[in-house]
Amino acid sequence: MANCLFCRIASGEINSRIVYEDPDVLAFMDLNPQAPTHILIIPRRHLDRLTSAAPEDAELLGKLQLAAAKIAADLKVEGAFRLVTNNGRGAGQSVDHLHYHLLAGRKLMWPPG
Ligand code: AMP
Ligand code: ZN
Repeated sequence: MANCLFCRIASGEINSRIVYEDPDVLAFMDLNPQAPTHILIIPRRHLDRLTSAAPEDAELLGKLQLAAAKIAADLKVEGAFRLVTNNGRGAGQSVDHLHYHLLAGRKLMWPPG
């Protein structure tokens, strides 16, 4: 999608600080970090949000989670991190391209705000 920010990051048109990439998944540092470690994990292929996923996206969704676990291990935060997706405006979604936030490096409150 030409005017999607994260599609443009995935294509390299917009720079990002990449921490992980494979043919299906890209992960990069959040521009406005909410924790000492704040990574965004996205599918390269555009999906608006988790509720836009179809049964045939099951493998891709699995790859996103496995990438998150690998990134957490690589960054040595595997013992304490949070993985969240904001699905819809009311939940705080501001970019309409599926992304998971990986947050770590500070005490994470529960329930989240
Ligand atoms: P959400 O509010 O869940 O849709 O998350 C969008 C995230 O994208 C926010 O945490 C922003 O800080 C982050 N963000 C926006 N623009 C960029 C960018 N150009 N590079 C990296 N992160 C970005
Ligand atoms: Zn997109």
